[in-house]
Amino acid sequence: MIIDTHAHLLDAKFDADRQTVIQRAFDAGVRAIFEIACEPKDWDAALEFSKNDFIYTALGIHPLEVKNYQAKDLARLETLLTSPKCIAVGEIGLDYHYIDHSSKLEKLDQLDLFASQIAISKKLKKPAIIHCRDAYQDMLDLLDSFAEYGVSGVIHCFSGNTCEAEKFLEMGFLLGIDGPLTYKNSNALRDVVFKTDISKLLIETDCPYLPPQKYRGQRNEPSYITETLEAVAKIKKLSVEETVRITSENAKKLFAI
Ligand SMILES: [Zn+2]
Repeated sequence: MIIDTHAHLLDAKFDADRQTVIQRAFDAGVRAIFEIACEPKDWDAALEFSKNDFIYTALGIHPLEVKNYQAKDLARLETLLTSPKCIAVGEIGLDYHYIDHSSKLEKLDQLDLFASQIAISKKLKKPAIIHCRDAYQDMLDLLDSFAEYGVSGVIHCFSGNTCEAEKFLEMGFLLGIDGPLTYKNSNALRDVVFKTDISKLLIETDCPYLPPQKYRGQRNEPSYITETLEAVAKIKKLSVEETVRITSENAKKLFAI
């Protein structure tokens, strides 16, 4: 049973053939897909979508949405997260890639939004799916300040170095591994996978983004997750079946499904 622990199947790029894409995922052995809805306007559709047998959903407010949300959205988030097929808060986090680096305010706003959602994650005992781009130090500091609360979750699409990986793992977080593992220039990420115990890895597509090497330049989809699973199996010197079994167990345990 393969689980795609991070997908955006409600993206408009799937509007023309969503059911076919889901069928292809099923044919490839995928038996659960986590749909990530990270803007308030997408939450209702994601909950509706999660009525499908093997679709689960995570709801949250993405750091790049920091200027577009209102306080009432956080209250609504807390209510919606109690839905039975809603397995996590996410994706939430920090993304300093596009911010105006002369403005400290934007960083503070992102930190504030992230902290509010981590507090919800802790309160509802739902794990966090964490997006972190160009902000690893602030992320580590912030999560460290929450450490005593026992927040759990995954660092989605991990792209840091082995030292940063070690710190997240020490705090009890898992690492999400995506298509970039199959790229020629991803030696640092392969090193992270090599050094990380497989019980700490989750496999994701982040589709329609980040297709594996074989499909680069195309739309990504859940059935392509097998490329990433094969790459992990090769690095860990395990069979693909064993890699699927262990990483799916990791997901079931973390997200209580
Ligand atoms: Zn995503």
